[in-house]
Amino acid sequence: QPLKLTEFCQTLVAEWHLSPDSLHRLVFTKHKEQSIVIYADTALLKQMVTQLIANALRYSPDGGTVQIELCDQQNGIVFCVQDQGIGIPVADRERVFERFYRASNASSIPGNPGAGLGLAVVKWIAELHGGAVKIANAAGQGTLITVSLPIANKTTALAIDE
Ligand code: ATP
Repeated sequence: QPLKLTEFCQTLVAEWHLSPDSLHRLVFTKHKEQSIVIYADTALLKQMVTQLIANALRYSPDGGTVQIELCDQQNGIVFCVQDQGIGIPVADRERVFERFYRASNASSIPGNPGAGLGLAVVKWIAELHGGAVKIANAAGQGTLITVSLPIANKTTALAIDE
C-alpha cells in the first residue's frame, strides 16, 4: 500500500530506545521533500529498516553515530544507513548478501555471532519492492548501505495526503 516514507522512518527511529548507557547515537535526517510516497508492504519494510539499523549498531562496538537519511535518485529515493563501525572489507561486499555469509572481520565483534541471514533478507525485501541494495564506499571509517526504492506517482501522493 502507499506509504509515507519520511514519517515511517521518523517513527521507527523514534521508537528505537537505545539504552541510557549506549555509546551510540541514532540520527534521522529528514529529506527536504516531506511527502515521499512509495508502495510498500509496511511489515516487510519495517523488518528491512530494523535489520539495517540493528547491523549498524552491532558492528559499531565503540559507538558512534548511526545516520539514517533519504537521498534523491532519478525516479526514486534512496534509503541510506551509515555507521562508523568496523566496515565491510571490499573483498566481502558482494558475498555478504548471501545467506550465512559473514565478512572476515565479523568475528572481531564480541558476543553472539550473527547467523549471516540479515542482509539476505534485506536484499530480498528491497527487490520485492522493485529496489536494490548496495554497499557504498563510506566516507572515512564505517559502512554505508543504500537501498534504492521506486517512488509512487504524484497522484497517489496527493490522494493519501487528503
Ligand atoms: P544476522 O543474520 O543475525 O543479522 P549477521 O549480522 O552475521 O547475522 P547479516 O546481517 O546478513 O548477518 O550480515 C552479513 C555480514 O555482513 C555480517 O556477518 C557482517 O560481517 C557484515 N555486516 C553487515 N552489516 C554490517 C555493518 N553495518 N558493518 C560492518 N559489517 C557488517
